[in-house]
Amino acid sequence: MKKLVIVGSGMSAMKVVDEVLKIDPLMYQITIIGAETVLPYNRIMLSPVLAGEKEFDDIKTHDEPYFSQNNITFMPGFEVTTVNRKARYVEVTPIENQTFERIDYDRLVICTGSTPFILPLPGKELAGVVSFRDIYDVEYMKSEAGKGKKVAVIGTGLLGLEAANGLNELGFDVTVIGNMNSIMNMQLDPSSGNLLQKVLEQKAIKFKLGAISSKIVGVDKVESLEFADGTAMAADMIVMSVGIVPNDALAKRIGLQTDRGIVVGDTMMTSDPVIYSVGECIKHRGVTYGLVAPLFEQARVCAEQVCEVSHHIYTGSDISTKLKVSGVDVFSAGEFDCLEDEVMCSKDHALNTRKRLSIRNNKLVGAVLFGDSTDGLFYFDLIKKETDISDIRKTLLFGDISIDASSAGSEGVKKMTDDEQVCGCLGVTKGDIVNAVNNGCSTFELLQEETGCATGCGGCSSVAKQVFSFVSGAEMVEKDTLCDCTTHSTQEVRQHIRVLEEVVNVDEVRSALAFDNACEKCGAAINYYLSSQFNEAYQHNDDERPHNEKMHANLQNDGTYSIVPQMQGGLTTPSELKALADIAIKYEVPTVKVTGGQRIDLLGVTKENLNGMWDDIAAAGMESGYAYGKATRTCKSCVGKEHCLMGTQDSMGLSIKMEDAVWSHFMPHKFKMGVSGCPRNCAESTIKDFGVICTEKGYEIHVAGACGIRTKACVKDRFFSTESEVVEYLKAFVQLYRMEANYLERVMHFEERVGLDYIQSKLDTPEKIKHWAAQLPKTIKNPWVTVNHGSQKSA
Ligand SMILES: Cc1cc2nc3c(=O)[nH]c(=O)nc-3n(C[C@H](O)[C@H](O)[C@H](O)COP(=O)(O)OP(=O)(O)OC[C@H]3O[C@@H](n4cnc5c(N)ncnc54)[C@H](O)[C@@H]3O)c2cc1C
Ligand code: SF4
Repeated sequence: MKKLVIVGSGMSAMKVVDEVLKIDPLMYQITIIGAETVLPYNRIMLSPVLAGEKEFDDIKTHDEPYFSQNNITFMPGFEVTTVNRKARYVEVTPIENQTFERIDYDRLVICTGSTPFILPLPGKELAGVVSFRDIYDVEYMKSEAGKGKKVAVIGTGLLGLEAANGLNELGFDVTVIGNMNSIMNMQLDPSSGNLLQKVLEQKAIKFKLGAISSKIVGVDKVESLEFADGTAMAADMIVMSVGIVPNDALAKRIGLQTDRGIVVGDTMMTSDPVIYSVGECIKHRGVTYGLVAPLFEQARVCAEQVCEVSHHIYTGSDISTKLKVSGVDVFSAGEFDCLEDEVMCSKDHALNTRKRLSIRNNKLVGAVLFGDSTDGLFYFDLIKKETDISDIRKTLLFGDISIDASSAGSEGVKKMTDDEQVCGCLGVTKGDIVNAVNNGCSTFELLQEETGCATGCGGCSSVAKQVFSFVSGAEMVEKDTLCDCTTHSTQEVRQHIRVLEEVVNVDEVRSALAFDNACEKCGAAINYYLSSQFNEAYQHNDDERPHNEKMHANLQNDGTYSIVPQMQGGLTTPSELKALADIAIKYEVPTVKVTGGQRIDLLGVTKENLNGMWDDIAAAGMESGYAYGKATRTCKSCVGKEHCLMGTQDSMGLSIKMEDAVWSHFMPHKFKMGVSGCPRNCAESTIKDFGVICTEKGYEIHVAGACGIRTKACVKDRFFSTESEVVEYLKAFVQLYRMEANYLERVMHFEERVGLDYIQSKLDTPEKIKHWAAQLPKTIKNPWVTVNHGSQKSA
């Protein structure tokens, strides 16, 4: 049997071994020599281990039975110190030992990865200066954990932020240091970077940007970090995450061609024809890669070469990145900073999501997704294939409209080509899944074992399951899990809450359902479900609510807030206007704007002024307009028959009654209404969650419309002949929506999910309407009255 020796036991090394075994398990006697003393593991998952979300055992990729079953000699804790290329053997030295062993090879594969770059600052050798590269770094950081201990993370890239998040979860007081003015600036445009920064700041992570670190100070251990501008910060630990350097030390030592990386050709062969190299240690066509997907492509090519069944060559990879900080969804692929490119952008303030697409010559060249990365792989594929987007230009911002809930698992998947990537972390394509299924993977778990699909950050698991189900024909009932902290579906969590007899808090729900973790997503959702279940008896947990709801004001892009007082029906009075003008002058409000919902928005309010302004607004007889909440927003109205020649009913009066009837309720999402005095529809009532079109005979009810990224006309629901019927029906409709829609599901999506027939069947008799309407309580008081905003008083 020929001898194959692999240097390194990292992810690329193990992928080469897996692929060789797939091609010909009997061709080689394999020896793996790895300097790390532990079993091979998924390095990507170090971030969740640091954050305490996973244990080392969860991220091991290969174990003892794998080695024994495949007759592999695995040598952890051994370093290859040199290679005799002429006689074809390597010298292996146990770490911290001078004796060495000789191991012969017919083919050698070098997978020595990379080493973290350490800034050459005075004091860099002090205890407490650490990188974020391997399990030992993670163990060290965890061993140093202590509430309030200060840590500086130098570097605002993917790993720096993941380290900062993990350390924050461990209780450290974390400050991220960057020399640029925005974060993840290699992957994100400044606006997306700022959004991300704000989300992380809400998790209590601090940032010091535009700062040049100059010196680490300490006697035996780090004590502080100094900056070029003469300032300094106290630090118990410093994590350097400023890049990696290909580890070509061994290759250099044995005379292989290197150029800041081991130089390889398209077959992954080095300058020695029996030595191959893959992973972060190589330079291929002038490029070095630091992500797993390209390394796996290289490993496949390398395995075919060493098994002498060469089919493919490696021509380079397009790459995409995804941040794995729980509760923060960020995706970036391609280019985003060329000023000449055409840019398409969308932002949903309520959901805090943003998309930015860069287009050049009718081709997508870059995509940055913030808050929702569901369409990441779709855009990535368009970028990779340089697809002409002319035909899909109009819908491009909506993502892959062919793979939505209605076509899940069928049409969308059928359309995918075999080379389309499913799992971005491990570079698994639809074709790989097809092959795996053809080779006997009958369950999703076997597919994961075989291909590694969806074992990285996990972001692709729902698409992967759709593809697997389609290819294998296996029934995969995709659970709509509430979030990554639990395997319980939204409905299961809600059902648990529905049958509770006593009011509990968010953490008690989590622990009763054995959640693995806690994130913003489940916090906000459970908080809402509890509040809609127990109404006034439930005390909202402000820490679990979205920032704007917690602050009772809308955060703006410059860190100030916007406040919008209630103004029912868009009607105001001279004394209200005067009071608002006085308040705006008193607090030096820089911008006063009339909103699309016919209210007055005071923009640019500092956090310190919020309480004072609220008190003054309350003293003038006005209250919060809930413009920041998942709550009843406005009921827009036209002037109606009181003023308009065409008017058929009193649209202003009805709109005030409607707003009054459902005011101050938290909802699964924002809830907007409209009343138009005639079918000319000046109040745009047919693109609202609940709209009324008045006619000579009465009131047409239209529901489930929206105007936003997706504009959708309402569906016509029913007709009433009196105002009081409209108001009663509105209350019933709102209560049904509050109790049956999922958190963050707009009426439009609720109607699409359950169907208008279902809604109508629940509210098809006056008795049923009365029953639902009677259950709608007043759940919240004006949060701007002093007694209710005690938490902001100290702001
Ligand atoms: C915290 C973290 C998060 C990451 N997240 C992502 C992500 O989300 N997505 C993504 O695609 N990528 C991510 N990466 C990058 C990804 O993990 C790496 O690209 C990948 O692991 C590199 O694999 P490799 O085999 O080339 O090198 P490595 O995994 O570094 O393996 C090299 C191995 O060789 C050993 N070695 C070196 N010299 C010798 C020698 N002379 N003798 C014996 N052994 C030797 C080293 O000890 C090491 O174990 C992340 C990396 C980190 C650190
Ligand atoms: S909707 Fe009809 S009633 Fe209302 S302002 Fe327009 S034309 Fe007049």
